[in-house]
Amino acid sequence: MTTPYTHLGEALGTDFFSVQDEFSDEQWQRFMDVRKFVDHEVLPDINEYWDKAELPWHLFKRLGELNIVGDDIVGYGAAGMSPLSVGLVHMELHRGDGSLGTFLGVHSGLAMQSIAMCGSEEQKQRWLPAMSTLDKLGAFALTEPEHGSDSIALETTATRDGDSWVINGSKRWIGNGSVADLVIVWARDTESQEVLGFVVETPAEGYTATVIPGKVSLRALWQADIELRDVRVPDENRLEFARSFKDCGRVLANTRGICAWMALGHATAGYDAAVRYAKERTQFGKPLASFQIVQQRLVKMLADLTGMQLYCMQIGRLADAGKLSPTIAGLAKMNNTSTARTILSEARDLLGGNGILLEHHVVRHWADIEAIHTFEGTETIQTLIVGRDVTGISAFT
Ligand SMILES: Cc1cc2nc3c(=O)[nH]c(=O)nc-3n(C[C@H](O)[C@H](O)[C@H](O)COP(=O)(O)OP(=O)(O)OC[C@H]3O[C@@H](n4cnc5c(N)ncnc54)[C@H](O)[C@@H]3O)c2cc1C
Repeated sequence: MTTPYTHLGEALGTDFFSVQDEFSDEQWQRFMDVRKFVDHEVLPDINEYWDKAELPWHLFKRLGELNIVGDDIVGYGAAGMSPLSVGLVHMELHRGDGSLGTFLGVHSGLAMQSIAMCGSEEQKQRWLPAMSTLDKLGAFALTEPEHGSDSIALETTATRDGDSWVINGSKRWIGNGSVADLVIVWARDTESQEVLGFVVETPAEGYTATVIPGKVSLRALWQADIELRDVRVPDENRLEFARSFKDCGRVLANTRGICAWMALGHATAGYDAAVRYAKERTQFGKPLASFQIVQQRLVKMLADLTGMQLYCMQIGRLADAGKLSPTIAGLAKMNNTSTARTILSEARDLLGGNGILLEHHVVRHWADIEAIHTFEGTETIQTLIVGRDVTGISAFT
């Protein structure tokens, strides 16, 4: 007799509206490479790491071998993917696991992109090649203990002192902050009051990172509280084109759309597992899938999931055409993370008691979507950004 429910985490290839027919060969190849990696390498191992809150370095390292590090950055050994491929890769990684996907999101989407978008040519040449191979790991330090949604009011300071800068302040929730080699620190110039970006190379005197304990989302990835006490950074480590908070905002706008793809990956994992389970699980002498209420719930999940897929395809097309605005990406992030939460709650419930066991590959996604819902702008903040766009009135400063 075969053990029941052993394949719940694996892809069903859910694509009700045939959006995959539109993939180019390059997009299809990237997508399939990551799908195989997830089904054959990530799923068998990840629950143990998530359970113990340990970092799965062997899986992190495989991202470099799969040539998917660096998103759409061209040159410097980076993946140089089309924007739609970037979305597909992040979606599929998150269908496997949120910690793994967020590891890549922080390293590529935030740290490498800060250098690619705000660095000089010399700075790109200096740091990006080693980051593309994951020989150097990146982090992005914007959030502070007192400034999350209003990070524009950050209090970390940078004071010019001859050929270098002296940085002081505290950062919170910094992914990879305790293990990164290169930390992009956003700090306010005490003279001009503008927010500037610095590459802090660790270990650095005055830089301490403490992993935040007790986290129940993205457990196989660590976030840190960071203290910067008179950390001295040479001027050549100040990102040349990070001259105000707007430049930090450009980096974040770029990753906002990717969060919509991440949410789609989590929701797909939940839906696929629920469909498989409903067919396998028998109650009252019949498979769960034969009951009308169960079918209705699965179809509602599919309708929501298909809507998320269409959102993603369109933001991918717009990004390919260079037309993805921060507000469109914001609406996609808001819609997809909140819809994914609903789908994952339904999936968890449809698995009954098995739904709260890690081995069935639903509850991990159910917990992980909470972090994605919050980071890089909460649902409420995305709503306010879009609200400002449609009304012309800002409900926040
Ligand atoms: C797992 C994880 C990883 C992260 N990784 C990083 C990282 O690598 N680097 C980094 O810099 N940061 C990171 N962050 C920080 C993240 O971006 C912030 O948590 C996020 O911006 C929200 O800030 P906050 O947690 O301080 O919540 P707050 O800003 O305090 O918000 C609390 C609540 O109030 C609501 N709210 C806030 N302002 C308003 C308003 N004007 N009107 C109505 N409601 C409002 C919010 O929507 C939310 O519901 C990470 C966070 C998490 C949880």
